[in-house]
Amino acid sequence: MRILLVEDDQRIVDFVQRGLKAEGYAVEVARTGLEAVALGAEGQFQTIILDRGLPDLDGLQVCERLRSTGVETPILMLTARDAVQDKVTGLRSGADDYMTKPFAFEELLARIEVLMRRRGGSDGKADHRELKIADLILNGETHEVRRGATTIELTPKEFALLEMFMRMPGKVLSRTRILEQVWGYSADPLTNVVDVYIRQLRRKIDDDYDLKLLKTVRGYGYKMDIS
Ligand code: CA
Repeated sequence: MRILLVEDDQRIVDFVQRGLKAEGYAVEVARTGLEAVALGAEGQFQTIILDRGLPDLDGLQVCERLRSTGVETPILMLTARDAVQDKVTGLRSGADDYMTKPFAFEELLARIEVLMRRRGGSDGKADHRELKIADLILNGETHEVRRGATTIELTPKEFALLEMFMRMPGKVLSRTRILEQVWGYSADPLTNVVDVYIRQLRRKIDDDYDLKLLKTVRGYGYKMDIS
């Protein structure tokens, strides 16, 4: 298992590299953004750990360049800042997860393992049994739902509702359509079951996160996207 570590701070390089090697990973280090883009584009890595503060490019730009050239390797972004907006822009730029420095090595390791498991295989290709929007993952086979490294417990109806949204990212779904598809009956004007379930789902998948994914489209219904 090969990991690309993109970091210009030698102390962090030493600390992370030593730890990962002890866990059996092969670690290659890039100290600039351009070096990271060149190495990352070869697609030889199972995970990329990417620092945001680099001497040439910003980590966000590195992430965007890699994604725009079709590199699907999972990216864990590191930042020294704990601003909520940083996390949101990091995920929007195509990163799969985000961590604030300083961090415990154990947490880094746990997150890397999640990213690798999620992608399956060693070719860095996405697992199509999984649906993914930003850091929200739904696995149709194991019925597991995660945001970042956190597992989210959903009831079967909540799961069906979420799956419907994730299969159609960006599409506005009316209450009628949701009722028909998830509950199997047509709209009863007196029931607010959809709104109740949307509220429950939001509490679980969005409330604790800065980047909200499930949106209300006033007068039409709901949609899920990253905008
Ligand atoms: Ca740095």
